Amino acid sequence: MKAAVLEAIDYPLFIRDVKCTELKTGQVLVRNLVSGICGSQLHEIRGYKNNKKFLPHLMGHEGCGIVEEIGEGVTTVSAGDKVVMHWRQGLGIESDFPKYILNDAIITSGKVTTLSEYSIVSENRLTSVDKDTPSELCAILGCALTTAMGIIDNEINLKFGESVAVIGCGGIGLNLIQAASMKNAFPIIAVDNNLNKKDLCIKSNASHFINNINDFHQGKIDIIIDTTGIPSVITDAINKLSDQGRMILVGQPAPEKFVQISNALNLFNGIGKTIKATQGGKTSPHFDIPRYIKLYQNDRLQIDHLFTHRVPLVDVNKGFDLLRSGNAGRVIVSINEK
Ligand SMILES: [Zn+2]
Repeated sequence: MKAAVLEAIDYPLFIRDVKCTELKTGQVLVRNLVSGICGSQLHEIRGYKNNKKFLPHLMGHEGCGIVEEIGEGVTTVSAGDKVVMHWRQGLGIESDFPKYILNDAIITSGKVTTLSEYSIVSENRLTSVDKDTPSELCAILGCALTTAMGIIDNEINLKFGESVAVIGCGGIGLNLIQAASMKNAFPIIAVDNNLNKKDLCIKSNASHFINNINDFHQGKIDIIIDTTGIPSVITDAINKLSDQGRMILVGQPAPEKFVQISNALNLFNGIGKTIKATQGGKTSPHFDIPRYIKLYQNDRLQIDHLFTHRVPLVDVNKGFDLLRSGNAGRVIVSINEK
């Protein structure tokens, strides 16, 4: 089967012929339909995830597929099930790391990977859904959508009418804007240095669009969520927090980078401001995914405008280029059509 393989740091992925090994306890073989591409994969390509020692390895952590075969002990999914492939742990067994064969050698990959025709996945990284759930929706339920909804719903205790700024409006950022609007935040300020993002942000229910957090002159902001991971952007944003301000870091700064806090005394104003790094929105896949699907089915959650680009697996590097360009919402990789 074909798989996108990271073989060297800062180098494009190779599409290789890879074989799956026999399933071990708690492992599931999935035929992949579609996968999203997440900024986190750019970090892997740059070697920021301490992953150089694991090369070569397979890639991707949000996808949708059909269960082909289950290993010993698997009880939560069955052959033929449509599944969300997610990186947060859900129900079922945490299996050993999956192994594949590349050029007659065994390679080890993450507990879930999605940028291949088939993947061996740990049972607890899969959640079954109804067959009629759109595959693209399932893919972003693996990371972009669940992280964004989880940040708003599980992590920040957003109050009606609190102000929210989202910095960096890619896949996760656009979902954050929509999630904040579902909780009646106001204003919802989309911040992106790419003017082309304005329409997408407004469609996602942003009330304001600006290029830089310093362009917001209407006072302080209650919740600022950074998806860029750029230290200078985070420094500027912390200064914009209101007295009950909460700063959430989604984008990860590069290793060994510093984030400065100017006027750090101001953090003690009001009720005490907080800065927090999210862990995937503290998503519980088995509990959260069905709720979000229900919202979609009842027109309470719009997703179609998020999918700005589609590429086939063989062109996966074009997908990464689109993500780097800053022009994309969510890039979807088509793998098996049906
Ligand atoms: Zn992700």
